[in-house]
Amino acid sequence: MNQADGGSPYRIDILTIFPGYFADFCAEGVGRIAIEKGLLDFNVSDIRDFTRDAHRTVDDYPFGGGPGMVMKPEPVSLAIAKAMTEAPKDTRLVILTPRGKVFDQTLASDLSRAKRLVLVCGHYEGLDERIHEIATDDISIGDYVLSGGEPAAAVVADAVTRLLPGVLGDAASLLEESFEDGLLEYPQYTRPQIFNERAVPDVLLSGNHGKISRWRRDQAIIATARRRPDLLRRANLTKEETQLAERLLHDYEKERRRDKD
Ligand code: SAM
Repeated sequence: MNQADGGSPYRIDILTIFPGYFADFCAEGVGRIAIEKGLLDFNVSDIRDFTRDAHRTVDDYPFGGGPGMVMKPEPVSLAIAKAMTEAPKDTRLVILTPRGKVFDQTLASDLSRAKRLVLVCGHYEGLDERIHEIATDDISIGDYVLSGGEPAAAVVADAVTRLLPGVLGDAASLLEESFEDGLLEYPQYTRPQIFNERAVPDVLLSGNHGKISRWRRDQAIIATARRRPDLLRRANLTKEETQLAERLLHDYEKERRRDKD
């Protein structure tokens, strides 16, 4: 249940040592819209507020030695306890980490169906392992290392927020976008009809909705074959589409071999 069907809004809590990072999420774009519509309750907590020493220390040396510092478990754990107060059973407690499951649209959709999401941003060499033990999810936004979890938390918060019922004006747009049916989205065009001497494909001006749908579906298959053949192998295609996809994948592999030689 959420605000769109008369319940309480979806709640996101961000735990961070850089709370200012999230000011823009509330002030611009999908975050602002969701908050203004009363569909999202967005809270940011400064982990340093949960320290007990004069220096507000959040890091310490790693046991066993080695480079860098590790985030101390006590302040993070107190911040988590506060964010989890009266949390519904299905609350997802997520730690952002390059060691996590790689974030994708399926996971965004899954998180958007909970009622509350707590996102913990790491720094230094990351969090004490005993915090990972109480999390429901470890999530990575890709195979690279950021300096802190804030950009990753912003990515997850954005992808989840736009899926909350009522946030986007045109819910139908969610059904046609990349990854929804295992394919990347077809190319989009808007006015002017001719730009840089390049014209919009005729079919899009034909007014024939059947032909437009067919063209878009074929273009989605072509884009996926060229850019993400890994996705195409798992997509849900008809027999004819599978043949088209196989031809495109064959051409793609041939092109790649030619480029290598
Ligand atoms: N020592 C860690 C490792 O090798 O796995 C990297 C720590 S990184 C410098 C500091 C913090 O940035 C992490 O604790 C995590 O919160 C965040 N972070 C870095 N890369 C990330 C990624 N790809 N996805 C999600 N969070 C990431």
